[in-house]
Amino acid sequence: MGNGRSWAEVDLQVIVNNYKSYYQYSNCDVMAVVKANAYGHGAVAVSKKLQENGVHLFAVATIEEAIELRESGIEGVILILGYTPLEQLDQLIRYDISQSVISEEYAQMLINTGKPYKVHIALDTGMNRIGIKTYDLDYCEKIIRKCFESLILEGVFTHLCVADSTTKDNENFTNKQIHKFDSVIDRVQDMKIPYKHCMNSASGLFYKSRHSNMNRLGILMYGLLPDIDLHLPIDIKPALKWKSIITMTKDVLPGETIGYGRSYKASGNMRIGIVAAGYADGYNRLLSNKGYVLIHGRKASIVGRVCMDQFMVDITGIEVNPGDEVELINDTNFTADNMAKLIGTIGYEVVCNISQRVPKYYL
Ligand SMILES: *Cc1c(COP(=O)(O)O)cnc(C)c1O
Repeated sequence: MGNGRSWAEVDLQVIVNNYKSYYQYSNCDVMAVVKANAYGHGAVAVSKKLQENGVHLFAVATIEEAIELRESGIEGVILILGYTPLEQLDQLIRYDISQSVISEEYAQMLINTGKPYKVHIALDTGMNRIGIKTYDLDYCEKIIRKCFESLILEGVFTHLCVADSTTKDNENFTNKQIHKFDSVIDRVQDMKIPYKHCMNSASGLFYKSRHSNMNRLGILMYGLLPDIDLHLPIDIKPALKWKSIITMTKDVLPGETIGYGRSYKASGNMRIGIVAAGYADGYNRLLSNKGYVLIHGRKASIVGRVCMDQFMVDITGIEVNPGDEVELINDTNFTADNMAKLIGTIGYEVVCNISQRVPKYYL
């Protein structure tokens, strides 16, 4: 509808509503995780809208993402949840960005510069990603004290790796992770560390920590699920629709093949539509001969392989004209989570992959 070949429509008020539902349920501070361009929804627009609604805690993955937010007027805490290269450390100070301390070596490196970095120490309570292992509480305490003395210690955190699973074994594991986190915090209570955080979207709804006073909210804020089978105690709604158009339609005769590799062969007379989006727009190629789009509310199956910039769908029996709108993802019966399930991935990846080539329109 005059929006070009493929575009996303993001309802910022839905993101705010999701945030608020979660916040009310959490009963503590909630940091908005807007890494990866706000999970593909547009970090600047999303963060500005959240800030207008009183949000003052933001998390990103890279220094570039952090600077983009600062330069667009985002105030309050911006925390980088990952690694920042040595040669960019100066920018942390210049832009007043908070940095995760990923290891003892990294802490020492920051301290050696003699500069007052704001830091959140990452504890590894069992995920085996970044962070200091928590086998030895004395060791953890020693590093935290060292940072407290030489840097600006703004937070200590950990990340849970199975909080979206409801099996007994995984619940036990999550409780163990939280217990380790709390045990470390017990040792450093005298420091009055402002932010102690161990909860992501899922865990904030299902678990309790004695010390955690802030939840890091990502996927649920966008209205998608950490796990498609998870039942939530709050109402959320997807914020993003991804659309494209039919550029032309054509008849295909029995026996003809469609697209690269001739992977689809027409068994009868059919009519197809060409959609103006492809894997360079982030439309996953694994959807080839498997996924579908919605046109005027009706399913049209993908026929043949998804190309870089286009793909073909079966519109036999559907009244379709060039210029008609196609829903690649909607907010009801074919969300990013539904698409993800078809190709064995998660909604997170589907929305993160929507490329820069796809303009975002904000409602
Ligand atoms: C991405 C991320 C989050 C957000 O996780 P969701 O499942 O999207 O809520 C929280 N904490 C850390 C450390 C992360 O990397």
